[in-house]
Amino acid sequence: MKALVKQGPGEGLEYVDIPTPVPERHDVLIRVLRTGICGTDLHIFDGNPWATRTVRTPRVVGHEFVGEIAAVGPGVGGLLPGQLVSAEGHLTCNSCVNCQADRKHLCRAAQGLGVQRDGAFAEYLVLPAESVWVHRPGVPLDVAAMFDAFGNAVHVADAFPLRDRTVLVTGAGPIGAMAVAVARHRGARLIAVSDLSPFRLDLARRAGAHLVVQAGEQPVDPAALGQEQGFDIGFEMSGNPSAQSDLIAAMAHGGRIAALGLPDEDVPTDWSDISLRMLTIQGISGRKVFDTWHTMADLLDDGLDLSFAVTDHFAAQDYEKAFATAARGDAGKVILDWAPRD
Ligand code: NAD
Ligand code: ZN
Repeated sequence: MKALVKQGPGEGLEYVDIPTPVPERHDVLIRVLRTGICGTDLHIFDGNPWATRTVRTPRVVGHEFVGEIAAVGPGVGGLLPGQLVSAEGHLTCNSCVNCQADRKHLCRAAQGLGVQRDGAFAEYLVLPAESVWVHRPGVPLDVAAMFDAFGNAVHVADAFPLRDRTVLVTGAGPIGAMAVAVARHRGARLIAVSDLSPFRLDLARRAGAHLVVQAGEQPVDPAALGQEQGFDIGFEMSGNPSAQSDLIAAMAHGGRIAALGLPDEDVPTDWSDISLRMLTIQGISGRKVFDTWHTMADLLDDGLDLSFAVTDHFAAQDYEKAFATAARGDAGKVILDWAPRD
């Protein structure tokens, strides 16, 4: 089968032939239809220090996908060939305290699909049946392809109650923009979004933001956004240190922040500002397995429209163009097409 493989240190990936994986007793073989490119994949493509440290090569990359079950191992019940599926990209140990207490998103020993084990940017992939999510009927394939990222957005947006609240979102990449859409759906009173990129601010507007601020050009000033007292809720969706300080400064006393973004560098933090204003900062990792997934499906059944989020499609073999587009920042989610649905 064809797969996108990180072959060693340095930049780039290769589109090569490798053996099709074989499912074991409790595994599922999935024929991949579409995959989404995420920031993690861009880091692995670039071969940055984190990727060089973390990814043992050769490695098939990628974790956002939708596919069809092609075969199931003899020990698998309840899953059938032909079902449309995605999967939780964190493969958990099932023996740590958090796994045993059904908080698998807090597993201490989780392995990342496409990072610590072979991933989804391939014609086929094998996963443990317990990681597989079967889509409800009617889910658009592009939305199904980015369920993993949508799950990050929902995990953030549902960290705190949003009805009638004011929300400031720093960073309108695909995940930030989807979190805006969920916040709007949840009845937030006012959603303001900052980003450096006019394209991304437009994405945020299409997602339902009431106000946008071009960070770097304009100050992210709550008073100028009509919020003299500051914002009730913050979503940190950029990983950028200056966005993090903008967000902390713009919060109301007692404000609550859900923090998803991952900075590449150490960020100095003014703890007095957090203590004296009694801010809550809730870190967010991955998705709750499978609570968040059910919520995602419910939101789509309720009419949440994410069609704004996918802006580009490329054939899998045109991956270099696809990765360049995703890296430029004037795109939303970039999708690689592996096969049409039968
Ligand atoms: P992305 O890189 O596509 O989007 C980040 C956005 O932040 C970009 O549009 C960028 O222009 C904007 N930005 C940069 N500096 C800014 C500033 N000073 N002010 C405002 N905006 C600024 O990323 P994404 O795929 O949407 O993911 C969002 C973040 O979440 C990333 O940091 C990613 O690493 C992180 N992430 C975390 C988890 C987790 O489990 N915690 C999972 C997935 C992604
Ligand atoms: Zn565990």
